[in-house]
Amino acid sequence: MNNNNSLPLSILNNPSINKEYDNITITDDYENNQLQNSKFNRLIHTTFGKIILGSVIILGVGVIGCAITAAVILSNRNIITANNDTTTSTSNTFTQQQKCSLVTTKTILPNTANSSIAQLTTQATTQLTLKPTTNLCEPYRFSADFISSVANNLTSQVNKQSLQNYLTNLLALGIRDNQYNSSSNSFVVASKHIKAKIKELKSRTFRQRFAYGNSTIDYREIGLFSHAQATSRKEKSCNPINNASCNLYSLIPGRTNNVIVVGAHLDTVVSSPGANDNGSSVVALVEIIRILKSANLQLNNSILFCFWGSKERPTSGSKAIIGFGSGFFLHNNAYQDIMKKLIRNDPCPKQIKKFNIQCYLNLELIGTKNRKHSQDINIDDPAHDKFPKYYEKPPAGTKKLTELYAEFLTQKNINFFRAKPNPNVTDVLSFYAKGIPSLTITAGKDKAPSCYHQSCDNITGIDFNLMSNITQTVLYSLVHLSLGDGLSNI
Ligand SMILES: [Zn+2]
Repeated sequence: MNNNNSLPLSILNNPSINKEYDNITITDDYENNQLQNSKFNRLIHTTFGKIILGSVIILGVGVIGCAITAAVILSNRNIITANNDTTTSTSNTFTQQQKCSLVTTKTILPNTANSSIAQLTTQATTQLTLKPTTNLCEPYRFSADFISSVANNLTSQVNKQSLQNYLTNLLALGIRDNQYNSSSNSFVVASKHIKAKIKELKSRTFRQRFAYGNSTIDYREIGLFSHAQATSRKEKSCNPINNASCNLYSLIPGRTNNVIVVGAHLDTVVSSPGANDNGSSVVALVEIIRILKSANLQLNNSILFCFWGSKERPTSGSKAIIGFGSGFFLHNNAYQDIMKKLIRNDPCPKQIKKFNIQCYLNLELIGTKNRKHSQDINIDDPAHDKFPKYYEKPPAGTKKLTELYAEFLTQKNINFFRAKPNPNVTDVLSFYAKGIPSLTITAGKDKAPSCYHQSCDNITGIDFNLMSNITQTVLYSLVHLSLGDGLSNI
C-alpha cells in the first residue's frame, strides 16, 4: 500500500497502459485458444519445430539487442543536448537501466468534493512523475473525500435515456428463456447482443459455456454442477436448444487480487419478456460499465460484471435449484480460471496467482412501476430480525454492504427499506453457500394483478426514475469498493 495519505494519487490510468488495454481483443473463444495452444505445443515438440523456434529466438534476440543499443545511443544524445541547454529534468538524472524500470503516471490533486472528473483534471497539477514499476501494482490509498467526490460525480452520469434505449433493444430480441429442450435461441442472441454492446464500450468480455442437461436429464433439478461440464463452440453451446447456457462476464481490472462481483441474471422464464425480471438489471450493469470505462479509472480492486445464464428455475422439478449459472461460476473455484482469462494481458493482475472474491452485489427487478411496497427500494439487511432461519449467520461483511447502499440512499433522500434477505430465490444463494458477503437490491415485485413471470412484464411496467436511482446506488458502492480497500475500510 502506498503510504501517501496526504493526497490521492493518480485515478487515471497510465495512458500507455490504457492504450494497451484498449488494443487488446479478448475473445471469448476459450476452446479455440486451447486448440491453438495445443497445435503450438505439438509443433515445438518436433525436431523441425525446435530448429525453427531456435532460429526465431536467435533472430529476435539479435534484433532486440540492436534496437536497445540504438536506443541507448539516441537517449544519451538527448541527455547531452538537454545538459547543454541547461534544461535537464529530473528524469535525465536516471540511468538508462533505471529508465527501463520506470513508468510515468499523472498525479491528480482534487480540491473540492463536488468537482466533475473533468474539473478535477483541470484543477489538478498534472505532473509527470517517475514511479518504480514495483509500485505500479500496489493499491493506492485514496482519501475518503476523494472517493466520495468520484462516486458522486459518476453517479450523476447515469442516464435514463441510455437505460431506456438499452432495455428497448434487449426486449426486441425476444424471450430469453433457458428452459430444458427449449425451441428458442433468443437467449443466445441476447447474450451475444450484450457482449457486443460491452465490447463497443471497450470493456473485455468472456463467455463461460456449460451444458445443464442432456437428452435424458436436466442437471439443474438435482444440482449436479459436476456433470455440467464446460462445452465447446462446436456444440453450439450456450444454446438452450442443446440444453446449454452460458454466463457472460466483463472485467474492469484493478491492481490487487480482490474482486468485487456484481451480477444480474440474463435469462427469463418461458413466457415472459422479462423487462423488469431481469432486463432492467442487465441494462443497469451495461450503463455502469459505460460510465466506469469513460471515467478511465485505475481501480484498486477489480470489478467483475456477471450476466448469469440459467438462473430461473426449470419448469419441471420443484426441487430444482435456482441460480445454476452463478453456482457453476463458483463450483470448484471455476472463477479463478475465468479471472485469468480476463486479465491475461494486464500488467498488474496477470501476476496474481489467486483471486479473492470480496463480495457479491446482486440486482433483481429494479424498475417495478406498480410497486407492492410503499417504499421504493429494498436492500437486503442480514440484521433483519426475520433473517431466514435456515441460514445460521449471514456471511460476515454483508451488513457493511447494506450500510454502503443505505449511505447513498440516505444522502440522496431516496425512499428505501431494509428488507429480510431472501437468498433462496436469487443468485445470492450461490454466494452464501461459499460464505461470500452478498446482497440483493431490488424494487420488489409488483402488486396484483402482477406481471411477475407473466407475458405482461414489458417496458410499460418500468419506472425509469427508480431504475436510475438503483443504478446510481450500485455504482456508488462499486466506486467505494473498488477504489478503497474493498470491504475492510467501509
Ligand atoms: Zn429474476
